[in-house]
Amino acid sequence: MGSWLLRGSLWGSCVLLAASAQAQALRQYGTHVHGRGQRDLVLDGQRLVAELRSPGADIVGFEFLPRFEEQVAAVEAAAASLRDAARILGLPAAAGCGSDDVDVRSAMMPDTGHDHDERQGDGAPVIAEHAEFRVTYRLTCASPEKVDRLAPGYFGTFERTRELRVRAVGPWGQWSGTVTRDRPRLDF
Ligand SMILES: [Zn+2]
Repeated sequence: MGSWLLRGSLWGSCVLLAASAQAQALRQYGTHVHGRGQRDLVLDGQRLVAELRSPGADIVGFEFLPRFEEQVAAVEAAAASLRDAARILGLPAAAGCGSDDVDVRSAMMPDTGHDHDERQGDGAPVIAEHAEFRVTYRLTCASPEKVDRLAPGYFGTFERTRELRVRAVGPWGQWSGTVTRDRPRLDF
């Protein structure tokens, strides 16, 4: 299809989204605010790509390499929950969006490769402060015109989350705003 929107990283491709100076600063310095996640979403034809970034503190309650069995289990359980695109993104069922690929990365999951915040120390790997989860969702929607709202299950899944900054580009145009635990629904 050759859509420019879907080439490369979602973030890098989207000129509109990159225009947010504040968001660029957040990314550049690898910092985040606990309780606040970021969701970018692009719907182009039937292809939907979404990128979620959330502080580790919000998802598992800590931001270091898991040391104990229960911490490892918590990270694995969180990753499994994050892979549930239908629940986390909260797309309308009528849109018929099926998940093609979900990629979960975190410095707290060394097997997932590099996280931009990850740094190496002498000897044992050192995890940067404020480790995050970054999830890329790629879906195909049978009826993309039905993607007219999001009701993210993100807040219900992760009890420490408080707000989600959302930026979306699609047939409805451009949308940006913040949804919260109390008002999680977003209408395009
Ligand atoms: Zn943090």
